[in-house]
Amino acid sequence: TEPIIYVITPTYKRPEQIAELTRLGQTLLSVSGIHWIIGDDSSKVNKRVLELLEFLGIPHTYLLTPMPEVYRNAVVKVGRKAWRRSKRAFVQLPRGVANRMGGLDWVKKHASSGVVYFADDDNTYDIRLFEEMRYTKRVSMWPVGLMSSSGVSTPVLQKGEFIGWYDGFISNRVFPVDMAGFAVSVELLHQAPNASMPFKAGHEETGFLESLGISVADIEFRADNCSKIYVWHTQTVRIYVSRRLEFMRKQYRDSN
Ligand code: UDP
Ligand code: MN
Repeated sequence: TEPIIYVITPTYKRPEQIAELTRLGQTLLSVSGIHWIIGDDSSKVNKRVLELLEFLGIPHTYLLTPMPEVYRNAVVKVGRKAWRRSKRAFVQLPRGVANRMGGLDWVKKHASSGVVYFADDDNTYDIRLFEEMRYTKRVSMWPVGLMSSSGVSTPVLQKGEFIGWYDGFISNRVFPVDMAGFAVSVELLHQAPNASMPFKAGHEETGFLESLGISVADIEFRADNCSKIYVWHTQTVRIYVSRRLEFMRKQYRDSN
């Protein structure tokens, strides 16, 4: 029987949430052998999310995995207005880390084989990606398209041999890759029981991969030697609901 893919998706409440999860969920409907783990950055169950999961009928687990207060407070510190203006303060939040760690804990408790993939709710996934990762022995990797700083993030191969990394943020990262660009086997997770993802924006991927104790020799390069793009780091434009509502209220007042 084919290995199960444990797709761990961090999500949080916002106007776009259900649209994002609908798109991702309906992608996953076209893939067999999926167990979808939704880690909600909240301490309260979101009924809309549960309704969607029930409708889709994909084997799933819904977890409440709120971001620790210390990080959440970092936003409060800057102030709401400044936070909205300054992309930097926002970028520095370790987004989705508590969610992914919660998902990993669940997988380690409930599975002894299969593969884990971190699928953010706003990316775009070609269903062929899942077959590339399904038979991962330790860690598999592939390119991620539409990365804002570099166009693409990918391991670089020449005649099938790894020669380096291409990414907009190499920095001092041992594995300069995007969250959507790799999968790990459940077996490897059990072999590295202390593996964890740091609450450090920009270093979540490399921190996690380093904590698995892997080296480049362990990586299985997929998607036709990293020459095909099956996942894109799309980002949804935020709408401003409150302004819209104010506008509609004004229109209503003016016309009555
Ligand atoms: N996320 C979250 N809590 C937050 C912000 C983001 O759980 O406060 C989730 C989000 O739903 C996504 C992942 O973390 O699945 C990465 O966030 P985002 O897509 O905003 O990051 P980017 O792609 O811009 O780096
Ligand atoms: Mn994103």
